[in-house]
Amino acid sequence: MDPIFYSPYQWVDMRVSGREDNTLIPVFNPADGTLVGTVPGNTPSDLNEAVEASLTAFPSWSRRDMVDRGKVLFTAARMVRDQQDHLATLLTREQGKPLKESANEIAGFARVLEYYASVSGSLRGEYSYSRLYGHSIVSRRPLGVCGAIIPWNMPVLIMGWKICPALVTGNTMVLKPATTAPLTCIALAGILVTAGIPEGVLSILTGPGEVIGEAMAAHPDIRALSFTGEISTGIRVSTRAAPTMKRLILELGGSDAMIVCRDADIGAAASGAVSGRFFNCGQTCTAVKRLFVDDIIADEFISRVKERISAMKVGNGLALGTDMGPMHTASHRDRLLDQVERTVSSGRGRIILGEAVPDRTSPDGSFLNPILITDVSPDAPVVTEEVFGPVLPVIRYYKLDDAIQMANHTRYGLGASVWTEDLKTITRTSEELTSGIVWINQHLKIPPEVPFGGMKESGHGRENGIRALDHYLEDKTILIRST
Ligand code: NAD
Repeated sequence: MDPIFYSPYQWVDMRVSGREDNTLIPVFNPADGTLVGTVPGNTPSDLNEAVEASLTAFPSWSRRDMVDRGKVLFTAARMVRDQQDHLATLLTREQGKPLKESANEIAGFARVLEYYASVSGSLRGEYSYSRLYGHSIVSRRPLGVCGAIIPWNMPVLIMGWKICPALVTGNTMVLKPATTAPLTCIALAGILVTAGIPEGVLSILTGPGEVIGEAMAAHPDIRALSFTGEISTGIRVSTRAAPTMKRLILELGGSDAMIVCRDADIGAAASGAVSGRFFNCGQTCTAVKRLFVDDIIADEFISRVKERISAMKVGNGLALGTDMGPMHTASHRDRLLDQVERTVSSGRGRIILGEAVPDRTSPDGSFLNPILITDVSPDAPVVTEEVFGPVLPVIRYYKLDDAIQMANHTRYGLGASVWTEDLKTITRTSEELTSGIVWINQHLKIPPEVPFGGMKESGHGRENGIRALDHYLEDKTILIRST
């Protein structure tokens, strides 16, 4: 596949803002450093133009029948499925993940489109009558121009989680993908336009977060913003957005616990730990980032995990049979290795698999073998900080109370999983774990039909499910009294 160069003219054709004088931002393949394409470095004046176009498009889009809007999403889903192979290849080339994971993510995007198309006929307001006040109607109205800022790790799926509820409810949207993985999002926006999304209803802006992202947060005409990224960036976005009183959804970092109880199916738990940690090269918000295992089964469990990790094939995501691709950038890899080095050098963990000091100067991308660390103490950097890469720290516990306490002892609250066959343990842990989602005997599954989001500093607001529509709607109460 040749590199894709989005010139400013193509950019305008795609109904995405851009100017001739924009600088061009290169997008590189993390596996080999080759150029995958270029995108314009949009400026705040491009944002103003995109918001203007979005405001102009809003009245007719919002007046369209909601079921009609759903039909456009449904058409787009079919087109995305038809082009799945091509889109998956593009995603792997810019992001690094194995082709099978990219294909799943593209299919997941289509599923989100289909889900919101399917609920498009079921949105209802409220009605009541009293002799004193007459007829009360609560109508639910779109907000206007909404914004979305997304990260590089699951760019396609997260784009779906944001655009579908916003567009189906009649809003228009301006979306900023991550600078290092914007190309598949742009290709998908092109498909949506071909499927029938009118001009101005969806605009994509590319450029540094500090420029375009902050300008979006501060823009007075963007009435709601859904942001996914790191906690520190989320704080910055909230601060910039505060004077405009816009609604915010913040989907931030996580440090999910996995608790493996003594009665767990050890084989299933070991497989769950390996896929839950090393999927997407460990770069997933809800990855297994802290593993707590009952001391009684710890030795056998660790040896099964080690066996499964050793069988994994690390390589270029485009190669057949690759289980884990490179890390997305060298700077993310270096940050991760610093966390590992600080843990090991302070005696708070021992590497039993994976290289302690990989070659950081390799020209062949940011590859890293999976790292398994045992004898980890709960205050180690790989436990207290979000570890966004292929590192699995294992902590032994002796009492379930301690496992729950350690799992909750964190600023994060995105997800957690418990592996057990015991109903009492299931009931207790699902009640006591302070995270937005608790999985039992599975990890990482995020269906579009149910709410997803974090507790504590992992953010607020929920994406997915019917309730995600609430973020993009406001109530208007109408009281009618017959004279
Ligand atoms: P990031 O915060 O660096 O960037 C996210 C987005 O924000 C990018 O588009 C970036 O360009 C933009 N940005 C950067 N600085 C900005 C600023 N000052 N103002 C506005 N926007 C700005 O995060 P990342 O490295 O792209 O993604 C990884 C992080 O995202 C991890 O912490 C991960 O856990 C989290 N994440 C959370 C979820 C979730 O649903 N909770 C899902 C995926 C990823």
